[in-house]
Amino acid sequence: MFEYAPAPESRDVVDLQPSYGLFIDGEFTDGSGAPFKTINPATEETLAEVATASEADVDRAVRAARRAFGTWSAMPGSERAKYLFRIARIIQERSRELAVLETLDNGKPIREARDVDLPLVAAHFFYHAGWADKLDHAGYGPDPRPLGVAGQVIPWNFPLLMLSWKIAPALACGNTVVLKPAETTPLTALLFAEICRQAELPPGVVNIVTGAGETGAAVVNHPDVDKVAFTGSTEVGRLIARGVAGSGKKVTLELGGKAANIIFDDAAIDQAVEGVVDGIFFNQGHVCCAGSRLLVQESIADELLEALKRRLSRLRIGDPLDKNTDIGAINSAEQLARVRELSAVGEAEGAERWSPACELPDRGFWFPPTIFTNVAQSHRIARDEVFGPVLAMLTFRTPAEAVEKANNTPYGLSAGVWTEKGSRILWMAERLRAGVVWANTFNKFDPASPFGGYKESGYGREGGRHGLEAYLDV
Ligand code: NAD
Repeated sequence: MFEYAPAPESRDVVDLQPSYGLFIDGEFTDGSGAPFKTINPATEETLAEVATASEADVDRAVRAARRAFGTWSAMPGSERAKYLFRIARIIQERSRELAVLETLDNGKPIREARDVDLPLVAAHFFYHAGWADKLDHAGYGPDPRPLGVAGQVIPWNFPLLMLSWKIAPALACGNTVVLKPAETTPLTALLFAEICRQAELPPGVVNIVTGAGETGAAVVNHPDVDKVAFTGSTEVGRLIARGVAGSGKKVTLELGGKAANIIFDDAAIDQAVEGVVDGIFFNQGHVCCAGSRLLVQESIADELLEALKRRLSRLRIGDPLDKNTDIGAINSAEQLARVRELSAVGEAEGAERWSPACELPDRGFWFPPTIFTNVAQSHRIARDEVFGPVLAMLTFRTPAEAVEKANNTPYGLSAGVWTEKGSRILWMAERLRAGVVWANTFNKFDPASPFGGYKESGYGREGGRHGLEAYLDV
């Protein structure tokens, strides 16, 4: 086993303020709700105090967005594109600062914030900047119109990336935005607000309101919001769908998942093991499309499990700011409690639990990478979204059985297939009820590729040409 010398990323690149306000109409302003603290989940240190937007503050933000909508939507697409390109370039220039801040507030390894989140965030703005003056050619008619004010609510697992998935297409299509980041990870959204100022984006085009669920509800239920975009839990997604039903608002929901990662006996085992690790242990498993159900063909199950355990024993868990770290902190005490609870249920229902020997830091919220074997399809560990570094392993004998088991879930966000046969990949992809099917890879994202769910994973698509539809009056 190699020893790794510590390689900490410096946090000096981040200029943390003691407190943050709301971003409304191009200005930072106080919120009228009680401020809340955002902490570093790896150390429990308070990072900053953040304003809570009341209903009245949300109303101010929506009014600002409405005022800005007139000029922003009338601007030629080629002009809007310039702002989006400018924002994309500033994100690249400030990516180290953004990555460190994301890691501090979220707990994800700096390696992932730096090499996955930030490049994808910039790519989303570049990609949609390219669409802004080509909407006539997107297949939605000769002169597709924007919807108006978009109310957007996002979760904490990919704070800045989810922001880019929401804001970039909205702006490219000519809408203005009121966005609420999650209460445990508001800081990169507020730094993004500063970037909007740096890019001289007209005031009111982007407004950021911080706060918890009540603030989110005020955003989506505001009568002057034309479009609601939500990413988060299926439970809150249901509430939102109920709340806006009959209001005429256009809605997209990106919700939970319980993806099957399916490995056939002809797959390249070492590659597949990497794919399983990437599928469920990337971002501590806080990934809606995580491959949390491993389906392995029975004839290779023992060999694969052994290889997987060997690989897990090599994962480094600890300080997220250390560039060697593979697995960082669980985002909050509440999420840690949920991961612990569902894992305890897994054991109580008779599944077998395994984690590699690893030392967890004393402070902060930590959970070791965990595999459950002897899992039945009826077990909660195979049905409920854990949203943590916990894998449930099941086996199958035939392709038909793999499909049957993979589709036996209320969700349908993603799936993975590992086999050397192209024909089998296509056969499987046709039958899997999932928005994305990865073949011989997992958790690959691209702004040109639409992403979204079937069944309880939500509706609507984000990204690609398809994602534009959510922000156009078509
Ligand atoms: P959550 O639903 O509790 O919170 C998401 C956001 O909604 C937060 O900003 C929260 O403040 C806000 N919110 C809470 N109650 C609200 C209400 N009544 N009205 C409006 N907004 C409200 O989810 P979470 O715990 O932050 O995130 C985890 C969930 O998100 C997981 O289930 C995961 O699968 C899902 N997720 C899905 C995707 C996707 O693209 N499909 C991506 C990331 C996360």
